Amino acid sequence: MNVHVVPTPATAADSIRHDWTREEAQAIHDLPFNDLLFRAATVQRRHFDPNKIQLARLLSIKTGGCAEDCGYCSQSAHHASGTGLKASKLMEVERVLSEARKAKAQGATRYCMGAAWRSPKNRDMASVVAMVEGVKAMGMETCMTLGMLSDDDVLKLKDAGLDYYNHNIDTSERYYASIIKTRTFADRLDTLSRVRDAGIKVCSGGIVGLGETIEDRVDMLVTLANLPEHPESVPINMLIAIAGTPLEDQKKVDPIAFVRIIALARIMMPTSYVRLSAGRTEMSDEMQAMCFFAGANSIFCGETLLTADNPGEDKDQVLFAKLGMTPEALEGGTDTEAGDETTATERTSCGCAGPSAEAASSCMTATSAR
Ligand code: SF4
Repeated sequence: MNVHVVPTPATAADSIRHDWTREEAQAIHDLPFNDLLFRAATVQRRHFDPNKIQLARLLSIKTGGCAEDCGYCSQSAHHASGTGLKASKLMEVERVLSEARKAKAQGATRYCMGAAWRSPKNRDMASVVAMVEGVKAMGMETCMTLGMLSDDDVLKLKDAGLDYYNHNIDTSERYYASIIKTRTFADRLDTLSRVRDAGIKVCSGGIVGLGETIEDRVDMLVTLANLPEHPESVPINMLIAIAGTPLEDQKKVDPIAFVRIIALARIMMPTSYVRLSAGRTEMSDEMQAMCFFAGANSIFCGETLLTADNPGEDKDQVLFAKLGMTPEALEGGTDTEAGDETTATERTSCGCAGPSAEAASSCMTATSAR
């Protein structure tokens, strides 16, 4: 029997809005779970193929020793005595490009690079720019996460051809100072606005499980959805409580509560990629499947997210096969563009070369808070 998918009708929530009130967001969040999921899945189907998933990958180009004090982060110099993580220097440009070349050969078209900085120093910008230019010259899209940026930094990155900048708002404005004291919520929004004004695409989300209230989670999404433009990517992380950080004893997030946040993000930002980011190792297949049904359509792949574990690509592929999901076609490319030696199996992975040994000992933060 042939089964035809009937397009679902538009709903009131299925418009691009930037004027959400916290009350209406909270009311959607609090819907009976089945109604919430149905609504989120309906919105998703209007804008995306629900059986396709975007795969992203990170390379840590500079690990540890960060001057910020984010309570969840192993890369903070403030927590180094507890975590034992040593700071590394900025990776050499040629080494980054060599990793990127391998990624390209395996089919990657987007390459994400993260550095554990409060903000980049002038002396580092030349290398960072060379990395962006070098990766762009290979024909891949670039994404960077480097902390707060000045106008000058943004211009340099834009001129180098940077496509995306990741800068998460972490949590609500109200709860922010309970987690981070070395910068303010407004600092985050300033950098996001500089990046957007320069014409660089925005990747920005937050973390669930920092000890925040449900209201804080909703407010975080209201802030993102009420930006002048929605972030093109919205990573939603589930806290990985890292030993030696101030949040090492945080309670695990209730899976249903987490899925509600994914669904709300999907409904409020219908055309954004909602990325299931850090914390997937703690999620069952069933929980991830529910997140995908609720509107998550992007993941980080690979066995580490900087320092934190992540399900390997094999495990992901088994899950995708069970769910009948396939990686999204590479933007502007074809399945065979990646290179003659690339096998079909490799092309179904994220195609990235994987983190270096240094990056593998880094942290989850490029996916959670940068
Ligand atoms: S989350 Fe980012 S900014 Fe915060 S301490 Fe870690 S590396 Fe630094």
